[in-house]
Amino acid sequence: RAISDSGGGMKEVQSLFACQREAAERDRARFGLQERLDSLTRLKNAIKRREGDIIRALDADFRKPEPEVRLTELFPVYQEISHARRNLKSWSKPHSVRGSLGMFGTTAQVRYQPRGVCLIIAPWNYPVNLTFGPLVSALAAGNTVMLKPSELTPATSAVIRQIVEETFPANRVAVCEGDASVSQALLDLPFDHIFFTGSPQVGKIVMAAAAKHLTSVTLELGGKSPTIVDSTADIDDAARKIVWGKFSNNGQTCIAPDHIYVARDQAKPLVDALRREIRGVYGETERDQKCGADYGRIVNSRHFDRLSALLDDATSRGALVLEGGVRDPDQKYLSPTLIGGTDPEMAISREEIFGPILPVIEYDDISRVIDTINTGPKPLALYIFSKHAPAWESIIERTSSGGVCINQNVVQYLHPNLPFGGVNNSGIGSAHGFHGFKAFSHERAVLRDRFSVLRLLFPPYTPAVKRLIDI
Ligand code: NAD
Repeated sequence: RAISDSGGGMKEVQSLFACQREAAERDRARFGLQERLDSLTRLKNAIKRREGDIIRALDADFRKPEPEVRLTELFPVYQEISHARRNLKSWSKPHSVRGSLGMFGTTAQVRYQPRGVCLIIAPWNYPVNLTFGPLVSALAAGNTVMLKPSELTPATSAVIRQIVEETFPANRVAVCEGDASVSQALLDLPFDHIFFTGSPQVGKIVMAAAAKHLTSVTLELGGKSPTIVDSTADIDDAARKIVWGKFSNNGQTCIAPDHIYVARDQAKPLVDALRREIRGVYGETERDQKCGADYGRIVNSRHFDRLSALLDDATSRGALVLEGGVRDPDQKYLSPTLIGGTDPEMAISREEIFGPILPVIEYDDISRVIDTINTGPKPLALYIFSKHAPAWESIIERTSSGGVCINQNVVQYLHPNLPFGGVNNSGIGSAHGFHGFKAFSHERAVLRDRFSVLRLLFPPYTPAVKRLIDI
């Protein structure tokens, strides 16, 4: 069963939760290794069967190009499933840990147990990937799951619901479609874990709601991810990668480079290379770019107006459009845009851009760049283009961010063995592979006393015991 709208949704949400709670407790032992592996296979087959529907839905929602759907929505989910299937046996095995002298005579193990009933709240920008990716980890860990996809991509949410309904009983996985009111109804419930992907603002609401039940949370949030291009960087290579990382999905990517700091002597070559690359990839003329099949659209008018206002605010205060800036509100189209001459007071320098506008900021002194990064909230990603290892090592050491890429951007997301997540304002906890499995598991400490010497320390505290404790 799914919640189809927010009207009267509260009761449905509560009864689904009750069914899932019962299943989580009753079927705990049944969600063993084989059942988990089977559920992942069923999920993969169901997504495969609906690939055509997913591609059509993402086209309807924000004209996402099919190759981008395959690379950024389907491939990461299939990879997550294969990786979990290959490794689940070893991830889920209890592992023994060594003791200390005082623990002599005991054995100790860490056992991964399902957390129970989990809530996954997803954003709209990679709606398939960011709903099913965490679901894979939650199922691998043996939980029951309630999914809340974003209301901003309704066609895709409907396909997600169909896939889940034809694959799982509602007491194992259920979809609750709807807006923030459905989310809030869900957040009133005492889940065992909440995995939220979205903005830092809503992340705070989620964490405050979770605090009422002391529910654990994984928060995958956003922010402004800086890119540094130093004077030793391979400019053409950097431009090629940055244009792909920034303008795929129309810039609506949590780990897209938000803005570039470039060494002053490289600024002109970099802007020229970025411009060449934009035109090479998306088309020479404005018309080519707008008609091209490889460039998506802004998700809705509210976000289009927000981006338009950021651009207008920056240019009215002296920033210059170096490339693009072409807008069509009817199509929610904003061409790939480079701007220069921004200053820290402008809204575009303070807010996460989350769209196809790329400020290029020149620097003379890398220490000033590092100070600027360190005075803002900790970013989700930091990208460094440089050929000088001591330079990138120094930047990594002196800053903090969820992840770092050297001479690349965005692809850290696709690495199956790296933890994916932010730090403080950009997130808490991590996803993917074993890290995702752990997020949805309780690491239970199990100690067995065989012939421990600890009993020698029990009262009465004779002088001999006191001497021992003194050690
Ligand atoms: P959002 O925070 O507006 O919404 C995310 C989800 O929360 C949606 O399902 C929405 O319905 C729900 N929601 C919205 N308002 C709510 C409220 N008041 N109470 C409870 N739930 C509410 O985010 P978005 O616009 O969908 O996505 C964009 C943001 O997500 C950006 O900040 C981006 O950087 C971030 N993001 C992060 C990652 C990551 O992996 N770290 C991935 C994608 C997006």
